[in-house]
Formats: sequence, C-alpha cells, structure tokens
Amino acid sequence: MTRADFPLLAAHPELVYLDSAATSQRPASVIAAERAFVEHDYAAVHRGASEAVGRSTEAFEGARERVARFVGAQPDEIVWAENATDALNIVALGISDASAGLGAPDLALRECDEILVTEAEHHANLIPWQRVAARTGAVLRWAEVADDGTWTIDALRAASSRRTRIIAVAHVSNVTGYIAPVADVVALARELGALTVLDACQSAPHISLDLAALGVDFAAFSGHKMLGPTGIGVLYGRSELLNALPPARTGGSTITTVTMTDAQFLPAPQRFEAGTQPVTQVVGLGAAVDYLSAFGMDRLHAHERELAGLLTDAVASVPGVRLLGPEPGRERASLVSVDVDGVHAHDVGQFLDSRGIAVRVGHHCAQPLHRRLGITASTRASAYLYTTPDDVAAFAAALAEVRPFFGADR
Ligand code: PMP
Repeated sequence: MTRADFPLLAAHPELVYLDSAATSQRPASVIAAERAFVEHDYAAVHRGASEAVGRSTEAFEGARERVARFVGAQPDEIVWAENATDALNIVALGISDASAGLGAPDLALRECDEILVTEAEHHANLIPWQRVAARTGAVLRWAEVADDGTWTIDALRAASSRRTRIIAVAHVSNVTGYIAPVADVVALARELGALTVLDACQSAPHISLDLAALGVDFAAFSGHKMLGPTGIGVLYGRSELLNALPPARTGGSTITTVTMTDAQFLPAPQRFEAGTQPVTQVVGLGAAVDYLSAFGMDRLHAHERELAGLLTDAVASVPGVRLLGPEPGRERASLVSVDVDGVHAHDVGQFLDSRGIAVRVGHHCAQPLHRRLGITASTRASAYLYTTPDDVAAFAAALAEVRPFFGADR
C-alpha cells in the first residue's frame, strides 16, 4: 500500500492531498535516509582528509550517480542547485556572463539574437530569459497558445527565426498538464542552431526521462516535487556546454587556482557548486530516486494515466466548470486546472479544504497564460503515486457542491 509509506498521509488518513505538482510528500525511506546520514555520516564534502569527509563525499557523489542514471545522464552532467528555478537561473546568468565576454564566445548572445519561449511558461522559465534579453540586447519571442492554453510545434516554429539561439520550454505545463512535443522542439532547435533548455519540473517526477536520448542541451528539475526534500534541485547540461558556461556564482569549492586578480575553475559540475553544499538534501534526493526506481516509472506512468482520465472525467461531470488544457481524451499529465463559473478560485480552494481536499489556487506562477485564458486564477488538482481513485472521487463530489454552495448555479 503506497500511502502507508508516507508518514504525513498515514498521520492524516482523512487528507485528500491533490497538490503534488506544488510539492510532493516524502516517503519514510527518504526521511530515514536523511536522518541516518545526519546521525552517522554527516560532514562537509570534498575538503578535508577525515574518514567522515570520505563517507559524506561518497554519499553525496553516490546520489549524483543515481540521479544521473535516473534521467539518462552522466554524473558530471548533473549540477546540484537549490531548485529548478535556481537551475534555470544558472543557465540564464551563465549565458548573460558569456555575452558580456566572460569566456565561451559560442554561448554569447548578440543584439537581435532571439530567445524563444511559450506563452505557457512558469515564471521560472520566463523571467530569467527576460533578464538575459535586457542584459544582452537579445529579443524575447514566444509561441502563442491556443484558446485551451496548449501550443503546437507549428506555433513554436512560427515564432522562431534564423536568429533564434535558445528555445526554452516546459516539458509538462504545471497549469494545463500539456505535454510538449520535445523531439520536435529539439529538431527545430537543431535546424536553427539553437540550444534547447527543458523545464522538466513536472516531467522528471512522473515519467521515465532519458535526457541524452531526448537530445536537450540543458534541463532543470526540483527534488521536492519527486519525493525528495526542498532545497535541492538539478541542472542537467551536456558536458561540453557545462564546461563552457561561466559559473553564475563563484567562491569556494569551484576552483583549481586563485590569485589576487584571477581564478581558474574546476570542470563541471564542481565549477557551479559554490560554497558548502546541501549534502543532506542531496542524500534525500538520492533516496527519493531509489524509491521511484523501485516503484517503477512505467508502473507510475500507468497509474497516473488512469488518474488523469479520472480527473478529467471528474471535471467533465460538473456543470459550469471549465477545464483548462487538453480536452478530455487527449493526452495530459495527471493534473487538472479548472475555472469554476461564478466562483473565485480562492473560494473554491477554501471550500475544498473544508472537505479535507488540498488543492492549489492562484495563477500557479503563470500569469501570462492565465491572462491569455481570460482569468486571473484557477484551481488545480494534481496526482502522484500515492493518489487513489477514491481521492479523485472525493474531489469530484466536493467540486459538484461548489457552485450550489456559493449560489453560482442560480
Ligand atoms: N517550472 C514548473 C513547470 C513548475 O511547475 C515549477 C514549480 N511550480 C517550477 C518551474 C519551479 O520549481 P521550484 O519552485 O521548485 O524552483
């Protein structure tokens, strides 16, 4: 029984937790791994000659190897970051620095070069690129979304040009559950000679990823959305690109030689991991990917496919509720965001909470998308491996009560 593996869910048997796209719950094995590490092996990594440092470093680098294997990467292509937002900023800031002449001319943007995103991006994959454009004189362009909030490779192509140097898109939208055609995006980028940056925040926790096979240049995801702790995220980059990208943050642990006027950096990933590392969080993330691997990503995918169907059916069963994103029957991730006619999302969220159902309300860090959809906020229910059909049934029943409760059905 999966739910029993999660102490918080076991402690609150009545809780219907449908907010895993915001953050996931942690299994006992992850909590135990963090605790055991702190109790038995904790020390700073890489520096020092003690046995404790050796054990700590082994745990730290061992987790890197397992996370790398989990997403089809080599260990030196995995950079620890604070979260996905931080990982995306490391790429954006590095490109800004390269454009300012700090090494790596191949990564430099010039005035009138173009950065291409979509109108559906999370702010974490939008604002850093706005900043790069402001710093370099590059132009930010975007693929427009259709009325349902999804986009197509044709829309992306229409917004591209021979000046496109970077294409940065979410693999899975955290609002609509739309799954991007990554192979087509990579093919378009290659045709244009552009780099691909994949925001894999909502895909890495849910589907078996092979980043090398996908052929993306960079990818970012967060530990806390995949059963791991907060405070740890991952930047994936192809080895030669990471070694060409100027480190966004500099300081201890990143260098080979320092003089009073200059510094030489270590190869990736160490060149990016400035300061004392979040070793406990890394160990927790390692245990999280162990749990996911043991559960089986194919089994997880099958489970979530079923839940995605149930979630869309639940929404379709309630009059006056508009489903954002792919229409029922089309493929989507196991999340639904809805607009309830006549009731503000915050009221919907509060009502569902009164029925013991935890969902997300607001713009979900995607204001431009909500604006395009003609709303300021939506209500999102998202599933994970511990979500059950009963959870979705409880959501459906409570959702049906919302409009009558607020008198919006009259
Ligand atoms: N991108 C997407 C698609 C997301 O869903 C999120 C988290 N809501 C992020 C980026 C940012 O993740 P974090 O807050 O963990 O940095």
